[in-house]
Amino acid sequence: PPDVEELGRATWTFLHTTAAYYPEKPTPIQRANMLALLKSIPMLYACKPCGNDFGDDMSKNPAEKWVGSRERLSWWLCERHNEVNRKLGKKEWGCGIKEMDARWKDGPED
Ligand code: FAD
Repeated sequence: PPDVEELGRATWTFLHTTAAYYPEKPTPIQRANMLALLKSIPMLYACKPCGNDFGDDMSKNPAEKWVGSRERLSWWLCERHNEVNRKLGKKEWGCGIKEMDARWKDGPED
């Protein structure tokens, strides 16, 4: 089985960084590809229970409404990460663009 923690850290790094550099005004093709990337996680993610729970959360909070800009996408993804943080008893993050950019665009590594 996969190392769920290592896979999780790597995946969040990939997803939050991709959101941080997502366009302010994405084209329809960029939006469609972002949606396809997110929707592939429930089906393909190597930690199956993680993918299933993420799929349930995405059904309640559809990504369609949030892929219209990097600020909206960064916020939405942070909230999805917080959903997992709550489940695991980890601390929640503030999801404003300043906090997201400080961690995933401009900021130092942790
Ligand atoms: P991580 O949660 O991996 O976070 C990495 C870094 O992101 C943190 O150090 C912090 O700098 C930053 N960060 C933290 N919260 C936020 C936020 N809300 N927004 C932006 N940045 C933030 N593990 C399970 O055991 N069970 C599961 O069901 C499960 N489901 C998962 C579903 C998905 C889609 C993903 C990607 C991962 C899942 N994981 C799950 C893994 C879990 O989320 C963590 O990655 C893992 O436990 C390691 O946690 P960590 O404390 O090192 O930090």
